[in-house]
Amino acid sequence: MSKVRTRFAPSPTGRMHVGNLRTALYTYLIAKHEDGDFILRIEDTDQERFVEGALDIIYRTLKETGLVHDEGPDKDGGVGPYVQSERNAQGLYLKYAEQLIEQGDAYYCFCDKERLESLKSKVSDEDGGTEIVVYDKHCLHLSKEEIEANLAAGKPHVIRFNMPTEGTTTFHDEIYGDITVPNEELDDLILIKSDGYPTYNFANVVDDHLMGITHVVRGNEYLSSAPKYNKIYEAFGWDVPIYVHCPLITDENHKKLSKRCGHSSYEDLIEQGFVTEAVVNYVALLGWSPEGNQEIFSLEELVKAFDFHRMNKSPAVFDLGKLKWMNGEY
Ligand code: GLU
Ligand code: ZN
Repeated sequence: MSKVRTRFAPSPTGRMHVGNLRTALYTYLIAKHEDGDFILRIEDTDQERFVEGALDIIYRTLKETGLVHDEGPDKDGGVGPYVQSERNAQGLYLKYAEQLIEQGDAYYCFCDKERLESLKSKVSDEDGGTEIVVYDKHCLHLSKEEIEANLAAGKPHVIRFNMPTEGTTTFHDEIYGDITVPNEELDDLILIKSDGYPTYNFANVVDDHLMGITHVVRGNEYLSSAPKYNKIYEAFGWDVPIYVHCPLITDENHKKLSKRCGHSSYEDLIEQGFVTEAVVNYVALLGWSPEGNQEIFSLEELVKAFDFHRMNKSPAVFDLGKLKWMNGEY
């Protein structure tokens, strides 16, 4: 088997809550358990969601917890992370989108806001708004002349992926098993936005391929997007990575822990007096059951012991009481 390569790919949109920290940790452990490479990639192509200061929090948290990345472009005399906005400035993602257009797997879409809004209301009139709104492929049928005239006139546009509408798509996740979706539910994803930036989805797939990522580890909120990504991989003829979607983390009332839930970010826990080692240890066991009864681990011991096949599918409950106990052990 080729060398294991994983990446932590945060978007700088807020604080590093325990869910993000756990994803970073599992991503690191899966690589290091196999002597592989751990890559850090900043996914910052959504300029509207960028939060000032979020990058510093990511860097600081990874440094304090010891999750050091292995490679990246030279920066300030060291190894920097990969940063998608910098990669985009070199035209990297557009080049791949244009390749898909040439192959017939993507197309220019010139629809304006009003038209896209009207598609939504058409659906909700007939079906009470429950059906998933997928783009109607209107612009797929424009003639070559129309497209060229629109582009020459500088008409705002996006680039969309041309999803199949018949059949089904199945993908495999290491934790959740095989998941099959009907293709008619797959939306013609936007690959390049009207501001010229790639969408998070597209940049994510292109970079996972270019960086030779073998295991994609991320939160399970992305489980429903995975079949769409598979179609992009197929169109390029690229190998699909191994997917490891991490289970949900809930609060003690079994409600999803959200980014806004202030007390659950790494920084808040440190401010409350917990030590870094205890937080890392606690987070590791949030959704993973080691073999045997050891409960207190150093990072090195986690690297040795971590086996992602022992991750749980069911949601993990974030329980401060347990963390307090662990903290007392350090
Ligand atoms: N950029 C995404 C996020 O911050 C990560 C998605 C992924 O790891 O594939 O949630
Ligand atoms: Zn259109």
